[in-house]
Formats: sequence, C-alpha cells, structure tokens
Amino acid sequence: MYDFDLLVVGSANADLVIGVERRPAAGETVLGGDLAVHPGGKGANQAVAAARLGARTALLARVGDDANGRLLLDSQRASGVDTSGVLVGGAPTGVALITVDPSGDNSIVVSPGANARLTPEDARAAGTLIASAKVVSAQLEIPLETVAETVRMLAPDARFVLNPSPPMPLPAELLAACDPLVVNEHEARVVLGEAAGGTPEDWARGLLALGPRSVVITLGAEGALTADGSGAYDHVPSPRVDAVDTTGAGDAFTAALAWRLGLGEKLAEAAAFAVRVGAAAVTRAGAQESYPTAEELTAR
Ligand code: ATP
Repeated sequence: MYDFDLLVVGSANADLVIGVERRPAAGETVLGGDLAVHPGGKGANQAVAAARLGARTALLARVGDDANGRLLLDSQRASGVDTSGVLVGGAPTGVALITVDPSGDNSIVVSPGANARLTPEDARAAGTLIASAKVVSAQLEIPLETVAETVRMLAPDARFVLNPSPPMPLPAELLAACDPLVVNEHEARVVLGEAAGGTPEDWARGLLALGPRSVVITLGAEGALTADGSGAYDHVPSPRVDAVDTTGAGDAFTAALAWRLGLGEKLAEAAAFAVRVGAAAVTRAGAQESYPTAEELTAR
C-alpha cells in the first residue's frame, strides 16, 4: 500500500505578471498595470492539478525562505498537497517575470533560484518519500541529475512519468525509465534531436526507439496520441471547448494521466481522462487557478 498516488518532483515558481501597452525595448522603461503574483512552476502546477482531482499527492521541491515561497506552500496546502517534501532555503524562490501586451504576446525572464538548488543529495535524503509513491512524475525545471537520482529511488513497481520541459537531449538511463515520456510537438522535436518532419505517429515511433516504455504526444485542441510500446497507437481526441487561456494545460494533462495510470488504467484510457482535464483547464484563466476539481469535471 502506497502513501501517495502521485509524487511530483519539480519546480515551484512565483509568476509575477504585469500587463503593458507595449513591452519595453532595450534601455526603455514603460509603465504597466498592477502586479499580479500567481503560484506556478511545472512541478507545483502538476501537484495542484492532481490533488484537486482527488489524488493523494505530494510535492518534492525547493523554495526560498521568503514571501514567494510561503505563497507556493500555501497554494499547495490549500489544494490538499502534502508539502512535507518541500525544502525551504538555499536561494530565493524561483520567479518568472512576465510582461504581457494587449495582443497576448509576452516577454519572460525566469530566475530558477531555489529550483536549481534541488540537488541529487536532496533526492537521496527524500528516499522514503520517493519510495512511498505509486507514481512519480518529473519535469526539467530542476537539475537533470536530480531527476535521474529520483528514478534510482523509486519503489520497485512504481511508475515514472517524465515531461521533458524545457526540452533537452536525454540520457539513455532516464529515457528507459519513462512510462510514458509525455511531450508536446516542440519537446518531441528537441528530444528527437533532428529536424523531425512527418506526422505525430512518426515522432512517437522515433521517440520509442530512444528507449521509453511508452510515449504520449499532446496535440493541443487535437488531444493526444498514445503509443504504448506494444505497437498500438491511439489518437485520443480532446473535447471541443472555447479556449480562454492555455497556460498550464500540459501540466494538468500530465498530472491527470500519471494519476490514472497509477490506478491501473491503460495508457489510452488514462489519456482519455487527461484530455478532459486539459480541456477544462483551458476554459479558465491562469494555470493552477484554472484546474478543475473532480466535481467540476463531472459537472461539465
Ligand atoms: P502548455 O505549455 O500550454 O501547458 P502543452 O503545449 O504542454 O501546453 P498542449 O498539447 O497544448 O500541451 O495541451 C495539453 C492538453 O490540454 C491537450 O492534450 C488537450 O487535452 C488540452 N488542450 C490544450 N489546448 C486545448 C484547446 N484549445 N481545446 C481543447 N483542449 C485543449
């Protein structure tokens, strides 16, 4: 019996957003609207998404001993995430400074801060927590070596889900542990490491050849393609919705997928649930604020 359905190992950022008429050029100062501060980061987003759906969820992350760190801890706890694995201190909380103009185009500066200080030693020290999760999911806004060390600490029959974002070429040992590797089109191209033409099926085939046990490619409004390693490819359509803001949809999708796989669902079945969660997330503004609860999802 596992203590957690899902452990998310990843980043926690404060997103500092200012609306501007025009984004500043080099050397220029512009006046903007009021500052909005939102809890974000792919790890924190995934944990909130899963917990809101009802998964017993924990987060392994690092935040600074500062107001942004407290904001992130509060938002995790308010969603029901176990934060005993969130380390505090060592550097300021990670921050994304975002200016967005009326057309929706943005400029973003990310300071990884404490996320970059989540070390392989931290993963080893959290061995009991890691081994207490049925599914562990990770992204790449923390050091790659920390993700690789996490994989070595998994319970023997635990499942590992990786969304390689931001994308980079991945070591064979890490790829071999992924079940599935979850990528969008851009991430698929970078991980494939070539000018990958062709169809999503071609990318899935190319990615499987790199070693993961299964692959999921998210396709925005088109849903997702699953490849379970046995040669079966399934296109899972997304519900049609009026998209308001797609921020964080991929994180909601991946968290929902990881949770349902841990409940024993087949890959295409879990993806069919995850596209509903992703579609619900794009109907509301923001990332974590947009994630549906189980009741909201059923009511749709
Ligand atoms: P992001 O970086 O914005 O978080 P992503 O590029 O990682 O997203 P997407 O493929 O855009 O991931 O979206 C993930 C899932 O969210 C999709 O598989 C789909 O279920 C849902 N989704 C995204 N955009 C739409 C949309 N316009 N309409 C319906 N569903 C959507």
